[in-house]
Amino acid sequence: MIVILQPNINKNSNEYHQLIAYLDNLANITYRIHEVRGDQQVLTEIYLIGDTKSLSKEEMQSLPTVERVVRISQEYRVLGRHTDDHRIYSFEYNGVTFGQNNLHVFAGLCAVDTPQHVEIMMRALQEHGQVCTRMGAYKPRTSPYAFQGHGKECLNYVFELAGKYGIKVIAMEITHETHVQEIQQALKETGNPTGVMLQIGTRNTQNFELLKYVGRQQEFPVLLKRGFGITLEESLNAAEYLAREGNRDVVFGLRGMKSNLGDPHRNFVDFTHVPVVKRLTHMPVCIDPSHSVGTRARASDGLLEIQHATIQGVIAGANMILVDFHPHPEKALVDGPQALLLKELPFFLEDVQIAREAYEKRVALAAQYNNMI
Ligand code: PEP
Ligand code: MN
Repeated sequence: MIVILQPNINKNSNEYHQLIAYLDNLANITYRIHEVRGDQQVLTEIYLIGDTKSLSKEEMQSLPTVERVVRISQEYRVLGRHTDDHRIYSFEYNGVTFGQNNLHVFAGLCAVDTPQHVEIMMRALQEHGQVCTRMGAYKPRTSPYAFQGHGKECLNYVFELAGKYGIKVIAMEITHETHVQEIQQALKETGNPTGVMLQIGTRNTQNFELLKYVGRQQEFPVLLKRGFGITLEESLNAAEYLAREGNRDVVFGLRGMKSNLGDPHRNFVDFTHVPVVKRLTHMPVCIDPSHSVGTRARASDGLLEIQHATIQGVIAGANMILVDFHPHPEKALVDGPQALLLKELPFFLEDVQIAREAYEKRVALAAQYNNMI
């Protein structure tokens, strides 16, 4: 059961103390308090765990400071969308709002290689009005002999360049808790010129200790990629690990499933699951067409297959696009064959815009037809 309190509740008020005293007295029930910091207000939600069937919803709703009570109908208690649960959940990070009703493009380098390439990339993003990017410093590679990323050595210049070009959020994969500390340190040393969204890659989707660590910190939002060989339910439960620990600023990333049935693409594109994740949870949904498709193949209609996959996700309501670009893909140290060229950035962005507008029209159409029924 979720007890949703009135917005901006004063935790020192008598009413709040009365509520807490009431909850403390409930037999066989424990609770956890979550704060949701939105653009305008702080929402407090209390998750009751245990024998909640014996509680009356009406009675709970009449307690001081309580606005609404929702019975949990999903196993994803915090992130799930429950029956009669009409909460609109979005979060703001470093001036950028993430939710199920908007879209952000995170175009950038799969892996940071040189400061020059980082700067060329950031400048191009600024020229095209972008405030988000992807930059890999820690690269989990299939071969232990492959380039593993520059790690903390590159963080300071990446953050400084981001600040110089007005980039507000960088999606950056981490594979160990020490990486979070290195990112914190580098941001501090450079005077917080930008923000970071911690990315948990598909190889670590079920690294539960990492999830718990990342979930306990609330400084950075998290992009959790779907595990490439597990069910959607298992991946959504992994996201719930983050929220259970206290961080519910989580974006869920689709990046294709490992299967030869997807050949000749690197992975089998799973963007039909965009609306499914939005139906089951409150998380904004990211698509990664680069790691899904994995090649720069151009279809007979002149559009890249990566663009086609992107648009399939956007027209289904995706909220974030993670996409690899590189100023010189032939020189990229990781995933050059799937990187788009900088001169393709405006083409890519315009194409996305067309699909987003089409999606918005489809939603308006649905509202019109659903009202008629
Ligand atoms: C990446 O985005 O750089 C990456 C390695 O993705 P994934 O974890 O989906 O393979
Ligand atoms: Mn990659």
